[in-house]
Amino acid sequence: MSGGSSMIEVRSLEKKYNGRKAVDGISLAIARGSCFGLLGPNGAGKTTTVEMMENILPQDAGVILYKGRERDRTFNQEIGIQFQHTELLAYLTVEETLKTFAAFYHKHLPVEDVIRMCMLDNIRKSMNEKISGGQRQRLLLGLALLNDPELLFLDEPSTGLDPQARKHIWEIIRDINQKGKTIILTTHYMEEAESLCDTIAVMDQGRIIEQGSPKSLIETHCQGEGREKNLESVFLKLTGKHLRE
Ligand code: ATP
Repeated sequence: MSGGSSMIEVRSLEKKYNGRKAVDGISLAIARGSCFGLLGPNGAGKTTTVEMMENILPQDAGVILYKGRERDRTFNQEIGIQFQHTELLAYLTVEETLKTFAAFYHKHLPVEDVIRMCMLDNIRKSMNEKISGGQRQRLLLGLALLNDPELLFLDEPSTGLDPQARKHIWEIIRDINQKGKTIILTTHYMEEAESLCDTIAVMDQGRIIEQGSPKSLIETHCQGEGREKNLESVFLKLTGKHLRE
């Protein structure tokens, strides 16, 4: 595995909680410009892995290389993170929230560009406490995009949304990826991974048990009579579990 063309690479990554390995020797190389999906059942170690990559959580062992080198102080300025549980001030409007967060960065995109990209124009004057779940996810995505990151981390970007709101988020994510951004996302939705990701890694019990393109995984694991040809079926075969339980 070489760091040359990778946006981010991890080697032999480990994390223990109370003496138990939550992440047990993971190696991954994420190509520049790709949309990479990390799938796994509850407790597989996805969030722990991603938080180590995001520089939020220190690893117990292993190496993380960003553009082929150890991360330095510029890393945090160059990445974007969409957290699942960001607290937003209830009485700020969407536009005020974006402007407040923009002020945290040395350099940021014009707030208007983010409003357009994330389809926030018609709710720019709405207070955060009044917006819907889908609108909130689009705002959180907008906040993660403010510093025009090269690498974007999305933690279950469409969890809990209705199908229409989910499609909107997918459209935006696809658009961002087509603009050349590298995306790492965790998801429980098979259709989300299949529709957005060019590469998928399946985690279980702290390890990567399989990775490849959705198409190659389906071709490899969905042979034989009666087996449905989709990622859910791949996942079930590999982990013995459904994606959402
Ligand atoms: P989910 O899909 O439910 O979010 P996940 O794949 O993201 O799960 P992690 O949250 O990374 O999994 O958890 C991996 C393992 O580490 C689990 O067994 C979890 O209980 C444990 N764990 C995670 N965070 C902590 C913590 N702060 N202290 C102790 N154990 C933890």
